[in-house]
Amino acid sequence: MGVAKAVSIALLFPLFLHSTLTSSSSTINYNNNQDIQVSAAARQLQQYEPNHEVHCSRERSRAAWKIIEEYLMPFVEQEKYQISHKCRLHPSNDMFREQEQHKTQVDVNEWRCGFCQKMFHAENYLDTHFQNRHQNLLNDTHDRCLADLCGALHCDLVDESKQRKTKCNPAAAAKNRHLCQSLADTCFPVNEGHSTSRLHEFFLRQFCDAHSCSGRHKPFARGGRKRSSVFYLAISILTLMLLPIFYGIVYLYRREMRSGVHDLKRISQTGIGRKTKPT
Ligand SMILES: [Zn+2]
Repeated sequence: MGVAKAVSIALLFPLFLHSTLTSSSSTINYNNNQDIQVSAAARQLQQYEPNHEVHCSRERSRAAWKIIEEYLMPFVEQEKYQISHKCRLHPSNDMFREQEQHKTQVDVNEWRCGFCQKMFHAENYLDTHFQNRHQNLLNDTHDRCLADLCGALHCDLVDESKQRKTKCNPAAAAKNRHLCQSLADTCFPVNEGHSTSRLHEFFLRQFCDAHSCSGRHKPFARGGRKRSSVFYLAISILTLMLLPIFYGIVYLYRREMRSGVHDLKRISQTGIGRKTKPT
């Protein structure tokens, strides 16, 4: 019995050793694979490095676009004014515009590339895909970076990733104010008619006045598209809800009054009747 046990151990041991060795070698292989994947990714990055000369932030450009759409365009549309291509706020001067327009959010976690129909779980993956696969569509020239106008447009107010500065820097405020005023001058030249001068004035009040450390003027002082529409929607819903209640109360009140008058008439009539009977 003892001999048989010893033999079985002797036979099994190499098997055990082999299995442990193969498992460890497989982990080594796995690590190697990972290394290969990592180095492939690095190579891919290096491959895109020469193209990777875009010195314009997509996120900041998006924040600037959001501000233009919300706090400028409603007023420009109201004046039926066409912003010229010379103005840096014109859509053609945003290098990311074409890519951003080819972005579709299908569901909460589903984003589609409009160029090749590929799907992504998050917007930033699609951004990386644009950067890697469709970068040829970017016409990267210095004056087409909307993010460069962020100082004038108060992008920090809509960019959630940016922490707002609590301390005001007078030199930075003056620089932003200057940029802001030059935008007003090039986009809405004062000598080109009434609507342009009105928009020029509006632009200064809406964006430029707040570039001071006095704290007297707030950015977007004239309001925007989103806030007003939400406000009007709330007011109209409230009115629609309160109107039937108001008429209901009026109707009930009048009915009560009428029946009260009837009762009074009946009481007075019977009263008169009683009074007249004894005499
Ligand atoms: Zn694509």
